[in-house]
Amino acid sequence: MATGGMTEDLRLVGISKQFETFTAVHPMDLEVPGGSFFALLGPSGCGKTTTLRMVAGLEEPTGGRILIGEKDITSTKAYQRNVNTVFQSYALFPHMTILDNVAFGLKRRGVKGANAAAQEALDLVQLSQVAGKKPAQLSGGMQQRVALARAIVNRPDVLLLDEPLGALDLKLRRQMQIELKRIQSEVGLTFIHVTHDQEEAMTMADSIAVMNGGRIEQLADPATLYERPASTFVANFLGQSNLLQARINGFGADGVALAQTHGQDVLVAGDNVPDGIQDVWIGVRPEKLRLGEAGRNRLDGVVTDASFTGVATQYLIRMPWGFEVMLVQQNDGSARAQVGENVVVSWDPGHEFVLDQHQAGDAG
Ligand code: ATP
Repeated sequence: MATGGMTEDLRLVGISKQFETFTAVHPMDLEVPGGSFFALLGPSGCGKTTTLRMVAGLEEPTGGRILIGEKDITSTKAYQRNVNTVFQSYALFPHMTILDNVAFGLKRRGVKGANAAAQEALDLVQLSQVAGKKPAQLSGGMQQRVALARAIVNRPDVLLLDEPLGALDLKLRRQMQIELKRIQSEVGLTFIHVTHDQEEAMTMADSIAVMNGGRIEQLADPATLYERPASTFVANFLGQSNLLQARINGFGADGVALAQTHGQDVLVAGDNVPDGIQDVWIGVRPEKLRLGEAGRNRLDGVVTDASFTGVATQYLIRMPWGFEVMLVQQNDGSARAQVGENVVVSWDPGHEFVLDQHQAGDAG
């Protein structure tokens, strides 16, 4: 199996899917750079599997085009596309050895050196030592890696991963995420991974398209999605957000904007405020909030819940206007608060993101 070489971009142009009267995917454009690890992320029913199936050729688009490089594959039959899919179920042939399972597709097409290519693919997934075994002799995680070796052995233009880790337990799942990322970067193929697990998408992908209701809400790298979500949906879907309804009242000399939330004055970085916008959501991630007065923005509250989660403690703190903020504090020896305690919650300007209330959706 040759590694390296040119991997072409995948482009969806105005692609859409209608099931009778129901629109599963609204017309959308999507560009996946060749050789990148791309994730389609969203809640159940958002249209990510339908999008994946259109790329695979298993679902005919209602409109739009699919291109790999300059080649239009919209009308190409699934089996004639150089696109492979890895599913949650491994579907290995039980009576064949692992090596034969991986080499099977190449041999059927009469490709020379099929065994050598299969051996190389097994090396890549670190399973060369079990090449002579049968699938039933392998653990679930190993079988999943065999399925992956089988899917990359012919160097597809695009490898589609449809929730492939869904059947694995959490610990194995976390290991496989790292493993998949390593394999993708070694083999240099384009991977498109469908998942509803935001942590999984963020761990693995170079870029993520967040889908909601058949549309792409935002497409960006994981850090940008987390730190600069474009909507309340993205802010809430990727991790937790405290969204404070606020009004921008002016700008200070030191680059800060003056805002008011529920009668309390707070400062936000002027650069974070969209031009000419007054009604905003100020979003602060739970780990940016601190217990005590260390930050410039301070709000009084009462602890309503404290949950020990191992590396951190997660607090719910009720604000005077009834809203509960979530605060996450590392268990690094700093003082902990008790349920019922009056506390000050603080953070520094710049540690927020700011969304236009009239554009970004409701708080959710
Ligand atoms: P999940 O994670 O649950 O698979 P998803 O984001 O992958 O969700 P899709 O499977 O793409 O979502 O489905 C999108 C919408 O289209 C859903 O509301 C689904 O019910 C609908 N849908 C999918 N396939 C069909 C079909 N063959 N006929 C009618 N509706 C369909």
